[in-house]
Amino acid sequence: MPSAETRNVTASHRAWIEVDLGAVARNARALIACARKPLLPMVKADAYGLGLLPIVRALEPLDPWGYGVATVVEGEQLRASGIQRPILITSPTTPTEFGRIIASRLTPSHGDAAAIGSWLAAGGTDWHLAIDTGMHRAGVRWDEIASVADAVRKSPPTGAHTHFHSSELDNGTMQQQTQRFRDAVAALPAAPALLHTENSGAIVRTSPSPWSLVRPGVFLYGVGSGAKLQPEPVVQFFAQIVDIHDLNVGDSVSYDATWTATKSTRVATLSVGYADGYRRSLGNVGSVLIGGRRAKIVGTVTMDMTMVDVTDIPCARGDLATMIGKDGNEQITAEDVATACGLSPYEILTGLNARAPRVYR
Ligand SMILES: *Cc1c(COP(=O)(O)O)cnc(C)c1O
Repeated sequence: MPSAETRNVTASHRAWIEVDLGAVARNARALIACARKPLLPMVKADAYGLGLLPIVRALEPLDPWGYGVATVVEGEQLRASGIQRPILITSPTTPTEFGRIIASRLTPSHGDAAAIGSWLAAGGTDWHLAIDTGMHRAGVRWDEIASVADAVRKSPPTGAHTHFHSSELDNGTMQQQTQRFRDAVAALPAAPALLHTENSGAIVRTSPSPWSLVRPGVFLYGVGSGAKLQPEPVVQFFAQIVDIHDLNVGDSVSYDATWTATKSTRVATLSVGYADGYRRSLGNVGSVLIGGRRAKIVGTVTMDMTMVDVTDIPCARGDLATMIGKDGNEQITAEDVATACGLSPYEILTGLNARAPRVYR
């Protein structure tokens, strides 16, 4: 159920997202206890759609080493809000961005000799070496590390990192990538001071961490992989019943008439749609909670409204519906929603960054 903080929102908004900042901090503490190393929390993409600055304010008391972002603009936003800690951009940047990176004291990641050379020429100092150990997305290949040896000698990186492609799969690739990372670092002219490899899935599987820092993302925001360490849920997503109507046999619901009543059915219309981040593909497969009971979505989710079957659920206009969260003994997690519509929970979270306002508690 929504907290007292959301009452004002209930009065003026159709749908809203409640973010439990206390749970974010507790999830971060659980990861520190597990890794026994400082956190480099990944707050890219507006902290996975939950709101960059509120999330960072919740994490600041835990004294993280710094923050991880994907873009220069995200780093600039953190500096503008007064954050003084290191800010690492883990994605590649272009030389046209180097001036702004230096002006905001951000730390870029480079993975080839040309980029390192341009960085040095631009007057850049602090940077991390991105090593590709199998993700094949960015960074210098572990088995071509010699190609950056000269550049690294001229401009030594303060850190080096790699990223696992299958941290939630127990298929031996994490161990293989770790060994490639060790080999590549050993082949550098000197080992950088800060070495880091682990995202959320890897942190919970490798306790304590053998490296200097750990880079959690999704676990902080309440999504876990079912491993031994589970995060507390962080996000709840609510809407209101704005219409109730009774359908006869043969009446269809929503665009393209993908659902048709085969018996007398009572349908409630919720004030939430895909423009609020509630995916269109949940039509006819997802469900919501109303009065502590599960109501199935009928028909296609539209931009602004979603219809659910409430034939057996006493409810009235103005009642709450929970799309993600707890209501009585029932719960719908971000993973449940993702599974229902064939997406990853990462996409569900970052997709919430749309029209529905966020409320923090
Ligand atoms: C996004 C990201 C992370 C965090 O991953 P999670 O699976 O959300 O914990 C860590 N490292 C890098 C390089 C990333 O891009």
